[in-house]
Amino acid sequence: MTLRVLNPATEQPVAELEQAGVAETDRAVAAAKAAFPAWRAVAPSDRARLLRRLAALVDDHREELALLETRNVGKPIADSRGEVGMVAEVFHYYAGAVDKHFGQTIPVAGGVDMTFREPLGVVGLIVPWNFPLNIASWKVGPALACGNTVVLKPAELTPMTAIRLAELALEAGIPGGVFNVVVGPGRVVGERLIHHPDVAKIGFTGSTEVGIGVMRGAAETVKRVTLELGGKSANIVFADADIERAAAAAPYAVFGNAGQDCCARSRILVQREAYDRFVSLLIAATAALRVGDPEADATEMGPLVSAAHRTTVASFIESEPLFTGTTPDGPGFWFPCTLVEATNTDRIARDEVFGPVAAIIPFIDEADAVRIANDTPYGLSGSIWTTNGARALRVARSLETGVLSINSNSSVRVSTPFGGFKQSGFGRELGMNALDGYSEIKNVFMTTEG
Ligand code: NAD
Repeated sequence: MTLRVLNPATEQPVAELEQAGVAETDRAVAAAKAAFPAWRAVAPSDRARLLRRLAALVDDHREELALLETRNVGKPIADSRGEVGMVAEVFHYYAGAVDKHFGQTIPVAGGVDMTFREPLGVVGLIVPWNFPLNIASWKVGPALACGNTVVLKPAELTPMTAIRLAELALEAGIPGGVFNVVVGPGRVVGERLIHHPDVAKIGFTGSTEVGIGVMRGAAETVKRVTLELGGKSANIVFADADIERAAAAAPYAVFGNAGQDCCARSRILVQREAYDRFVSLLIAATAALRVGDPEADATEMGPLVSAAHRTTVASFIESEPLFTGTTPDGPGFWFPCTLVEATNTDRIARDEVFGPVAAIIPFIDEADAVRIANDTPYGLSGSIWTTNGARALRVARSLETGVLSINSNSSVRVSTPFGGFKQSGFGRELGMNALDGYSEIKNVFMTTEG
């Protein structure tokens, strides 16, 4: 079946691709299995050199990859350039980690006990459409560094940069079969990877709903799983915060990537004393966001990824918003920035909208803020805005969430662990922690007696 890939800003086709089915998935797994013994045996310094070359090629092709991502996802070109920059950094980082992730010798009686970090084998990587190349690199980088071979399944809507990355890997000298890409439907290709007996692990990023199915399916063959799932994160603004700074930053924490961000701080919790002032500053800052042509350097927000997704996002607007932004005329899956006053029990405050829609929720005091922030099945990210350092750390320790920032929107860095609490998933990506998810500890005892 042919897959028509669209540019969400123009609704024009970017490419037409043949979709893979079960047979092609099996071929990719067989290629990865065949390539595994030689790849795991590559000397660490050589494996590192190959990953460094891939990083350099990504850097050399930064503009090409950024444009491909922008035309496929609809994200602003400035964002795509930043993301491709991070992809190169990710491969550099894990090239450097190849020979720094090692076992231990443990004091025991009667001999020597040592541990080894062994690769898992063939790993299946399933990624979403919101940060296609970035999230792929977070998994491919540590997986290859540990000596695994990979079958990557990009989202149907956004396969373009994954295909290009695999071409660059070959150009870097990474042997054929080590890094495979299979483009096809989640229900076919994804399901096959989950159930395939020769796949040792699934690294999954996507919705909680699909993630639950991944975990259930993986149980059949006791596959390892890493799940990076949805979020409904809180941006908590205390009255003692620098309100101007917090209000100027808040739109970027939820409208970045048109709100299609698992880390979106889509619940803005504001202490009552500062509520009116914060909301009027927030509306002004949101109105000033530059929404339009994703290929223009100054653009800060583009369209949503698809017409179907726009319909889903629109279904969340059930009451009169405090503010609705503007969108360009003409084609494209546009949706305006929308601010809605809510209580934490409203659907808009409970479900992941995954669009440029923020629920603004007043709170009374610190205990109330923590209670509301934690009253969600998710636990991915969040921000705390306050000038009281003790409060900042006290609240940070109380929040049931994997990634937090204080007086900042930041969520993701190459060298720090990223992942969720509760139904936002488990396992960590990025940093040295990601290597634990792509290796198995082997314990070997050798007697010194006799
Ligand atoms: P999705 O769950 O619909 O799809 C994710 C991937 O899974 C796609 O490649 C899809 O083809 C595949 N898939 C779908 N059904 C499948 C099945 N039955 N078996 C196997 N694979 C299947 O998610 P999406 O709409 O592409 O992405 C948005 C979601 O991803 C949001 O919930 C968002 O929060 C989440 N996300 C999480 C993170 C994180 O790191 N926690 C990062 C980005 C996105």
